[in-house]
Amino acid sequence: MSAEPLSQDGLAAPGPASAGPAGARPRRLAPVRAVPPPPTTPIVRPGRHAAPEDAADTPDRPTPSVPTPQPPSPQPRPEPARADETAEQHAARRVRQTWTEVEPHADELADWFAALLFSLAPDVRALFPARVTEPARRLLRSLVLPMSTVDRPGELRPMLEPLVREHRALGLRAEQYEVLGVALIGAMRRFGRSWDEPTEHAWVRAFSLAAGPMEQAVRAAAVPAVAEGTVVSHRRLSWDLAVLHVAPDAPVPHRAGQYLTVEIPQRPRMWRPLSPARAPRPDGLLEFHVRAVEGGWVSRAMVAHAAPGDRWRLGPPAGRLGLDLRSAREVLMVAGGTGGAPVLALCEDMARWARPRPCTVFVGGRVPEDLTVLDRLHELAEAHPWLAVAAVCEDDPLDERTQPGTLPDAVVRGGDWSRHDVLLSGSPAMIRATASALLVDGVALDRITYDPFTE
Ligand SMILES: Cc1cc2nc3c(=O)[nH]c(=O)nc-3n(C[C@H](O)[C@H](O)[C@H](O)COP(=O)(O)OP(=O)(O)OC[C@H]3O[C@@H](n4cnc5c(N)ncnc54)[C@H](O)[C@@H]3O)c2cc1C
Repeated sequence: MSAEPLSQDGLAAPGPASAGPAGARPRRLAPVRAVPPPPTTPIVRPGRHAAPEDAADTPDRPTPSVPTPQPPSPQPRPEPARADETAEQHAARRVRQTWTEVEPHADELADWFAALLFSLAPDVRALFPARVTEPARRLLRSLVLPMSTVDRPGELRPMLEPLVREHRALGLRAEQYEVLGVALIGAMRRFGRSWDEPTEHAWVRAFSLAAGPMEQAVRAAAVPAVAEGTVVSHRRLSWDLAVLHVAPDAPVPHRAGQYLTVEIPQRPRMWRPLSPARAPRPDGLLEFHVRAVEGGWVSRAMVAHAAPGDRWRLGPPAGRLGLDLRSAREVLMVAGGTGGAPVLALCEDMARWARPRPCTVFVGGRVPEDLTVLDRLHELAEAHPWLAVAAVCEDDPLDERTQPGTLPDAVVRGGDWSRHDVLLSGSPAMIRATASALLVDGVALDRITYDPFTE
């Protein structure tokens, strides 16, 4: 597990040089020659990289019109890799470079990608909601993220699992990866400022390397993509926080700390990861703590409009947050906001163990109301001496249950964690700040595990 800080665009920054995936040979992506060149008629709006007034992903935004595929373009010639880099490193570097260029135009790129995709594979249209920008942007990112990591197989493989599960939850089939690659590269051609033949060659190579394992994983997965469940309670804690209980038709097998990708009737086909806040129960009941993020499509609907009786679709469990059963080390868990959900689930799970490991939990939020798991954690700590709980709030320092300040400061002040296994849960910003503080404080990188709460 790595705590490598994420770059602003969400892609992992280049890491130490490593060989390409053992035995992985780039599969030739034949149909890439048929990528439609940039249409002469703009799909979404005039002007290359123009930022017109409809740039926001508003509910009224129409699905972009579909460009007509054009005759094949010439096969790109490979740019010689630097003397000190492998072909995989060269491809990943080019992908990262070009992605940085297009990131400011993510919405236009997503519209273009979707339009190409639907023109090449009309049946894929049915997998997307009416407004395609946001899910297309997520899909794009989930393809580019592993492409930017094909030079680091140790990081690539664990990354593929959650991405592939989300692709399956969306309803994508293994045979559709090829057309995804064609649409991706067609869209990048349109928006990559420095796009040229060697760049295209690098993208094709990176996609070929990343798509092969994704295809295989989709084919190999035996569990059904979704289960269904009914919302049995919805309690609004504040304007932006709610606790929901969902009773699945049959228990969804999962481990404490894992997340499920869910789809709600108010936002069809917009799947979001949510972490059950309690350890798995025999009756399968799931508890979710949801915060409505500003401008959030799904979280706002979950908090404001979800209601008992709603039928939710549930994707298979995923995620790497968990306790290494072979380790005997003490545990430090740090959770920001609704990141407390998987941490509570893990503590409840450990309470069932014959020999729980000493564990310190820090939960933090802006105000005490953000600490949705604090009462239950205190109950557990009262019953189990191996558990210690500390709560931190940025505002409202007068609350007697909390100490003022930020999570990273409080954690570093709170002890020497260099011999602990560390689990972090929350937003990427909280994880970055806490991981950096712990690294400076002497915690080894490979002892830190996290699932950032956004994509
Ligand atoms: C592994 C994992 C587990 C998660 N578990 C939970 C959970 O238990 N409870 C929960 O409430 N959420 C959880 N999330 C976050 C959740 O999946 C959604 O990303 C979040 O609810 C926003 O979705 P949205 O459709 O409302 O926002 P979108 O419409 O996708 O985004 C709207 C805006 O909000 C920003 N944004 C997206 N996510 C976040 C975020 N988490 N914090 C702040 N800004 C954000 C986007 O960048 C964008 O600007 C988890 C995420 C991951 C990756």
